[in-house]
Amino acid sequence: MKYLVANWKMHKTTQEVREFFATSRELLRLAKGVEIVFCPPFPLIHSVRDEIIGTPLKLGAQNLSAEEEGAYTGEVSGRQLAGMVDYVLVGHSERRKYFHEEGRELANKLVQASRHDLKPIFCFEKPADLAVINDPTDLILAYEPPGTIGTGHPDTPSNAASVAVQARKIVGAQIPVLYGGSVTAANVKEFLAQPDISGVLVGSASLNPSSWVDLVHAASS
Ligand code: PEP
Repeated sequence: MKYLVANWKMHKTTQEVREFFATSRELLRLAKGVEIVFCPPFPLIHSVRDEIIGTPLKLGAQNLSAEEEGAYTGEVSGRQLAGMVDYVLVGHSERRKYFHEEGRELANKLVQASRHDLKPIFCFEKPADLAVINDPTDLILAYEPPGTIGTGHPDTPSNAASVAVQARKIVGAQIPVLYGGSVTAANVKEFLAQPDISGVLVGSASLNPSSWVDLVHAASS
């Protein structure tokens, strides 16, 4: 099963969520044999949930706190997300770059995700970033090389596949490894044709219903 993960970052409003799903019903037909996961911003999780409830489409969060609970203004915990989403992104490159997430904090986020039955999609830019992983059970990795995110300049599928192989060796488990970085409907098939790449993490091309439907269509055809 290939994963198609939409990272909506800090985009969309409740009204825009409604519009997105009103014009993307075809996703339901395409969702067979692929795991389609939407990662909206926190305030939109309920709106997306209302749209996809009873369908095979899945929900993820873009982040979670490294803490269980307490006086951490503005944070959202795994405990609060439990039962609401199936997946959670951990260590996305924008979290690393703008919020300086690294090391122990990321390791604790992984612990929180696993404690609350949220499947982490751990994003890494280089194999050394994998050192914070203590328990590779029930984990998905997403290789997102620097310079490819939102630039229109993706990695080559063969390089992404060889990093995926290396990553599995480092964590010591046969886990799914996704590729992310300027994936579009035009190039998704080349990445998914690599047996070592288990899916894609997509930002820009997931925002517009028609480009996302086209991408899902290309991925599942
Ligand atoms: C991302 O947000 O993880 C991403 C890969 O973005 P984009 O598809 O826009 O490069």
